[in-house]
Amino acid sequence: MVINNVEIAVQRKNIKSIHLSVYPPLGTVKISAPIGTSESYIKNFALSKWTWITEKRTEILESYKEVKEKEYVSGECHLLFGTEYRLFVEVNPEEAQTAIIDGDYIKVSVKNKNNVKSVLDDFYKEQLKERIERFVSKWEPILKVHCEGIKYRTMKTRWGSCIPAKKTITFNINLAQKDIECVEYVVVHELVHLIEPNHSTHFYKILENNIPNWKQLRERMN
Ligand SMILES: [Zn+2]
Repeated sequence: MVINNVEIAVQRKNIKSIHLSVYPPLGTVKISAPIGTSESYIKNFALSKWTWITEKRTEILESYKEVKEKEYVSGECHLLFGTEYRLFVEVNPEEAQTAIIDGDYIKVSVKNKNNVKSVLDDFYKEQLKERIERFVSKWEPILKVHCEGIKYRTMKTRWGSCIPAKKTITFNINLAQKDIECVEYVVVHELVHLIEPNHSTHFYKILENNIPNWKQLRERMN
């Protein structure tokens, strides 16, 4: 059955009442109905839930889009500090590999097209490093802390981590996709761990005093 250009899989089975579900990753709509339910009844049922179906499908498709693996090809959208850029890939076997911002584009020149990801990762790391170092220098005197070492790597579940005993902080390279205010929030968060290692009331009090909108920023990031 097709309603408003959406294909709906209908299954009649030995159940008491009609029900509807939307499944990831493609937002497939399925309706299960008791045996003998008429086509028009099912159609009206679907239409009565249409707002919900549309919202649910959008939600599923959006979240799927976000986790979709990048292909690192020309035309693909990449975020840098919250701004969208299009990727432009050029293969120049004879030239040095580079990545630069040019207007709305991130132009990547590689010796081989399989190198795009690694060149871009280095570029993101450099971009992030510059911002992080600036924020660390800005906030160290304000918080009266000193960070001995900064590392960068890709992490799956956290934006940053701090080892207070060694005064070292690691930042997630994926932070380079986030708004600059969010990057600053993560820097302050990790620096505050040099004062207070745990997420105690004291920790949040210091954070709040310095970044009053930290909750909004955290929400925006996740
Ligand atoms: Zn923390």
